[in-house]
Amino acid sequence: MQLVNGFTLMDYAEKNHLVLPAFNTTNYELTAGIIKGFEEAGLGGYIAISSSNLKLSSPKIIADMVKSVMKDISTPVALHLDHGKSFEDVKACIEAGFTSIMVDASHLPFEENIKEVKRTVEYCHFYGIPVEAELGAIQGKEDDHISNEDAKTDPNDVLEFVQRTGCDMLAVSIGNVHGMDLAPNLDFPLLQKIAELSPVPIVLHGGSGIPFDQVRKAKASNLIKVNYGSDLRQAFIRTFGEAYESDHNEFDIMSLSKKAINNVEARVEAIIKEVNNH
Ligand SMILES: [Zn+2]
Repeated sequence: MQLVNGFTLMDYAEKNHLVLPAFNTTNYELTAGIIKGFEEAGLGGYIAISSSNLKLSSPKIIADMVKSVMKDISTPVALHLDHGKSFEDVKACIEAGFTSIMVDASHLPFEENIKEVKRTVEYCHFYGIPVEAELGAIQGKEDDHISNEDAKTDPNDVLEFVQRTGCDMLAVSIGNVHGMDLAPNLDFPLLQKIAELSPVPIVLHGGSGIPFDQVRKAKASNLIKVNYGSDLRQAFIRTFGEAYESDHNEFDIMSLSKKAINNVEARVEAIIKEVNNH
């Protein structure tokens, strides 16, 4: 099937009472494993790539690869830009056929964050594409970027931020962290407060380190999307690492790549089902 528009996917989540996982890809094997995992689970979601990863593969390479793998499946998947760091990246992704966009201007002061998100929203909505924005800073390692900032989302800013930017999903900082080096400590009362004030659904980053029962608990606070990056990357890297450890002369890249796809697919299917208690 074709890539699904982000607004259509949001409706699908709402109608079916689902939390949609977003899985970050980097290369062909991760892409194939992610898309096959969605098909096996029979539930839709996002395949995503971050701005920093676009230095390695262009938006067009990623979009062409995802669209090509999507041909074999019947489960709704949107292609999402994760942590869009520049307006140029956003435009390049829309041009390449991405169907959902995140703009991350959360490192900027409040007014500048609003300004950057607003112009991205105006641009993306013209093309019928929804925008996720971040309020508050998420600690930890995201690709090549390490953030030591730990500014939780201020609930007093939520309504104004969403109304003035026109964003469609809100990524929050409530003790969730990027990567596997720090332990998350989710502040559920804060999440609940934010959800009550936010006119749009909530997104949690750093899913790999969050226990599944906590993700399911967050569902009660209008959670629509939860991001997974490190978990799949470990499944991918371990496949090659273990083969090398057991035989330093290992060179069978094709069968190991197939094995990596299968390992990633199994993790994706397991995560989708755990998140939705399916
Ligand atoms: Zn993130």
